[in-house]
Amino acid sequence: MSIRDNIKQISASLPSHVTLVAVSKTKPNEAIMEAYDAGQRDFGENYVQELSDKAEQLPKDIRWHFIGHLQSNKVKYIAPFVHLIHGVDSFKLLAEIDKQAQKNKRVISCLLQIYIAREESKFGFDMAECETLLASPEFLSFKNIRIAGMMGMASNTDNQTIVRTEFHALHEFYKRMQPIHDLSVLSMGMSSDYKLAIAEGSNMVRIGSSIFGERQYAPKTV
Ligand SMILES: *Cc1c(COP(=O)(O)O)cnc(C)c1O
Repeated sequence: MSIRDNIKQISASLPSHVTLVAVSKTKPNEAIMEAYDAGQRDFGENYVQELSDKAEQLPKDIRWHFIGHLQSNKVKYIAPFVHLIHGVDSFKLLAEIDKQAQKNKRVISCLLQIYIAREESKFGFDMAECETLLASPEFLSFKNIRIAGMMGMASNTDNQTIVRTEFHALHEFYKRMQPIHDLSVLSMGMSSDYKLAIAEGSNMVRIGSSIFGERQYAPKTV
């Protein structure tokens, strides 16, 4: 199937309250334009340099989502245009996003990444840390960021029970924080697990390989 067909088919299968972020990391501009011409406007990227280049070259009505691990010293490159930063996983990073957003006279929307997987390597806050952060005076003093919601990645396993349990736990936490902090986005689910994620309350899915095909390489620059 073509990229165009994949976009059409996946979009049509999603409930209307779920936003599709097409994950285009490592894919060329032509592939993104094929998705764009099929009506897709939300795209996700993992690497700052690659995202900056694409944002410069591609149509200005694309909403760019940064979904990778963001280093504080690179925030300045994407602050002028980024639509939503999914993987915010430290106070230091939040402070830097606030500073760069202020410089650009913007309010940048962010999702706090919550650690739900069993693997050691995944980034993120644990739920208690996140709750403390959201109520802290330092956090409340930030004027140029908006916490729009939360993001989580489940364990990389074929065991659906584990994946479902992890998504479920994040949704429960999100529901508890949602009215207090006026949240509206719960970003969970990738190609392999987005259906489960939606069943467990996700309203934003990040899908790459099911749209663009398998990724052939990982870029050297992070
Ligand atoms: C690459 C990536 C995705 C998309 O993964 P696929 O399995 O290709 O759908 C989603 N979320 C994050 C954070 C990613 O890095």
